[in-house]
Amino acid sequence: MKCIFCEIASSNAPSFNIYEDNEIISFLDLNPRSPGHTLVIPKAHYENFSEMTPAIFSAFFSRLQIIAMRVEKALGADGYNLICNNGRAAGQTVFHCHFHIIPRFYDDNLRFKMPILNYDNQKFKSTAELIKNTEL
Ligand code: 5GP
Ligand code: ZN
Repeated sequence: MKCIFCEIASSNAPSFNIYEDNEIISFLDLNPRSPGHTLVIPKAHYENFSEMTPAIFSAFFSRLQIIAMRVEKALGADGYNLICNNGRAAGQTVFHCHFHIIPRFYDDNLRFKMPILNYDNQKFKSTAELIKNTEL
């Protein structure tokens, strides 16, 4: 099955682009969660953030920052969320790595509310140790 974001990156599917260079393309999300909701993707296909190679990071994040600042200013937003869903469990639905730029407004009533886990110091310590000691 064809990857819709690869199709957009190669101009074989329509999109409302706001930035493009050899490595990166950015376009409006088809289902905007707030005015100016924008996606930024590497043109090369990486299934998710973990699959991206360090070689692309510098180009990707420098463009992501500039595009986010431009979106925020253009929309007169009060802030923005950067979201990158990785894996079906995390809500990823398009399996070509992308970052969402979601402009935020003081009165927008959007919520990303997650319940807070009740950790004691032992749980923090064991969790930190677990992650620190995990090799890739
Ligand atoms: P995810 O849930 O994978 O983090 O987000 C995928 C996003 O891609 C969704 O917000 C969805 O609206 C957007 N999307 C899916 N298909 C298309 C498309 O064909 N064009 C554009 N512009 N956005 C799309
Ligand atoms: Zn793709």
